[in-house]
Amino acid sequence: MTKKVVVLGEAREGALRNVSFEAIAAAKKISGGGEVVGVLLGDAVQSLADEMIHYGADRVITVEHPHLKQYTSDGFSQAFMAVYEQENPEAVVFGHTALGKDLSPKIASKLASGLISDVTAIEGEGDDAVFIRPIYSGKAFEKVKNKNGLLFITIRPNNIAPLNHDTSRSGDKSSVSVDITNLRTIIAEVVRKSTEGVDLSEAKVVVAGGRGVKSEEGFAPLQELATLLGGAIGASRGACDANYCDYSLQIGQTGKVVTPDLYIAAGISGAIQHMAGMSNSKVIVAINKDPEATIFKVADYGIVGDLFEVIPMMIEEIKKLKR
Ligand code: FAD
Repeated sequence: MTKKVVVLGEAREGALRNVSFEAIAAAKKISGGGEVVGVLLGDAVQSLADEMIHYGADRVITVEHPHLKQYTSDGFSQAFMAVYEQENPEAVVFGHTALGKDLSPKIASKLASGLISDVTAIEGEGDDAVFIRPIYSGKAFEKVKNKNGLLFITIRPNNIAPLNHDTSRSGDKSSVSVDITNLRTIIAEVVRKSTEGVDLSEAKVVVAGGRGVKSEEGFAPLQELATLLGGAIGASRGACDANYCDYSLQIGQTGKVVTPDLYIAAGISGAIQHMAGMSNSKVIVAINKDPEATIFKVADYGIVGDLFEVIPMMIEEIKKLKR
């Protein structure tokens, strides 16, 4: 049976996040040839509707309201529920992002639905779709099938490839008006810790530093390498605890979970809590001066050496290749 699938697109600073396009690709599989409906919530999001259609949505519904300028779970859940009630879909897909992790359980419980969270791959399609998700901090994977009722999933960024961007695709664009009331929180101001650079959770390349980086200044060569590779900087909790960098960079069990194409771990020992956040990266390169460091057990390429010698050499070689 084909399904109607609703996908929540996530906008940030006037642009859609990649995970929105990955969610459309997931929705296409789940729909089994049915309809994929994109949903955009915000104060000015209509201009982003075409982009969702170019990535595979059949049509897009926007809800615009001044209270949706910043994310609040009350505001977004009221807006999403209005679209849900209008569309009555068989399945819902959100990104497994900070927003998706906050909003999806709230909506799922309102709908008395189950929730298959943090999906990294989908086997089969339509009614036969099987959802693969890591468990035990990435040490095992489980395969889950929706038995009956509404199917609600969140997908981990960077794991499900988006469909081709096709500007010749067209689709219906409509809006739903919602009276957003009873907000228990209002965001007065958002103060960003870092305003530039690639988003860590969506980066294709992550260069992460640990306690071996030794100081805040020690992150400079890592930053240079990350910039050269078009990637983002990350860190172990060891580096964050030592005040070498901000906690927003922490990767691991109690930090961000990343799955880039390339993860370079420099001066990181490979504690189980760190590996919970990066061991599913496609290629892992570890630089550590201790040949017994645990990180080498998950690394595809291990470099035993001083990161302050190895990273400048890598930078030099990459610059040569770019010339
Ligand atoms: P260390 O273990 O001190 O390792 C530093 C490494 O750098 C060593 O292997 C050393 O050989 C190497 N080194 C030193 N100098 C150089 C050099 N010049 N060149 C090359 N290598 C060098 N940690 C996380 O990362 N993320 C989490 O989310 C997280 N959550 C946690 C949750 C709980 C409940 C607990 C208890 C712990 C958590 N931790 C987490 C902490 C974790 O257990 C480790 O303490 C931490 O990951 C260690 O950080 P590190 O590898 O940078 O430091």
